[in-house]
Amino acid sequence: MTQPRRVILLGSTGSIGESTIEVVRNLQAVPGQECQLVGLAAGSRADRLLEQAGEFGVRDIAVANEAKARDIAFDGTLHVGAESARELVESVAQPGDLVVAAIVGSAGIDAVLAAIDAGCDIALANKETLVAAGALVMPRVVERGVNLIPVDSEHSAIFQCLHGVSKEAEIRRLVITASGGPFRGRAREAVREATPEQALDHPTWSMGPKITIDSASMMNKALEVIEAHWLFDVPADKIDVIVHPQSIVHSFVEFVDGSVLAQLGPPDMKTPIQCAMTWPDRVEGCSKRLNWEELRSLVFEPLDHEAFPAVMRALDVIRRGGTTGAIFNAANEVAVEAFLDRRVSFGAIVDLVSAAIEAIPSKPVTALADIVEADTAARAFVASEIAAGNGLENVVTSGTSGTD
Ligand code: NAD
Ligand code: MG
Repeated sequence: MTQPRRVILLGSTGSIGESTIEVVRNLQAVPGQECQLVGLAAGSRADRLLEQAGEFGVRDIAVANEAKARDIAFDGTLHVGAESARELVESVAQPGDLVVAAIVGSAGIDAVLAAIDAGCDIALANKETLVAAGALVMPRVVERGVNLIPVDSEHSAIFQCLHGVSKEAEIRRLVITASGGPFRGRAREAVREATPEQALDHPTWSMGPKITIDSASMMNKALEVIEAHWLFDVPADKIDVIVHPQSIVHSFVEFVDGSVLAQLGPPDMKTPIQCAMTWPDRVEGCSKRLNWEELRSLVFEPLDHEAFPAVMRALDVIRRGGTTGAIFNAANEVAVEAFLDRRVSFGAIVDLVSAAIEAIPSKPVTALADIVEADTAARAFVASEIAAGNGLENVVTSGTSGTD
């Protein structure tokens, strides 16, 4: 009998983390697909992390939040602090392990790079890693000969549609679907005034708070456009976004001969998570199924770039290259946090991000230090804009404001 696949789950207590736990439980019953969780990392929910470790007999865990880790009694190895996920990977990972990267934000970059260096395959949910550090991650994946398989539903769809396609010249464009979020159909000014409660109320997906706000502002789609550029090595002018409110068609690939392939499924992240974990095999899944009897139509509409300028910004980020992705991502992380704390308006998120990419010069990416420097500069820039009162409304007065 073959050994179960060793899996390290980073961000185990979050929305993707918990869905991954369900998939792991499902796979235990599938001969040849059994997994052994050998490491778990989380930010602050130490109690839940300990439950997970107990259920799966995990001996190595990491908690980023030092205060939350203080009272933990754990009969195994506990890593604590901002570097703890990376330390966990460095101490536990073996070549051929699978690392599910489901930490939110650029906090996940280090651990992903460490996992690649250790020769692990990556199931990547943490899109911010590619947005900020794609220029480091993708060459390293090739160098180390590991597999990086997307978990993000749109990228899982494109990945599946591109299976067997080896030439970029065959692809006319990648079309990423967007649910449109809670503010679909609203005019620009109405979108800009949204409250955190309204922005957190996503119509089709249940996700962590940061990505839910990103979905409402279309920053999620913007990040996904940049993620697609890195994953599939396509330029900005071959990536498009279309609104599809039902979230059933997860994305399309249009080929030069006129053929279009799409991947469909229910809006349930367990499908792309399992797909990434068992690829290239497909086994019985544990997500909801599409009910074809009830499905009458599939709806598509163009994205309103006036109300949602983030996607145009992202295409610009790809064209600028260098550290622009890291600046874009970090500025957004700080702006989203400030919006959730009611320190800035919803409309200010994209304004602050746009201002950051204009204000901070882009540099070539040669090492992680370049990413860290750009990330730090963007965080400081946005924090100082907010401190100066730029963010309650119309923080950017000219040039960079959203009128694509
Ligand atoms: P979440 O907020 O629900 O969970 C984030 C997880 O990361 C938690 O376990 C948290 O404890 C952990 N974490 C946060 N900071 C950490 C740190 N410094 N060190 C270690 N762990 C830390 O977020 P989510 O919705 O599960 O999203 C996770 C990632 O997956 C994001 O990058 C998101 O964009 C991406 N993603 C999510 C979905 C979804 O449906 N939720 C879909 C596609 C992509
Ligand atoms: Mg997605």
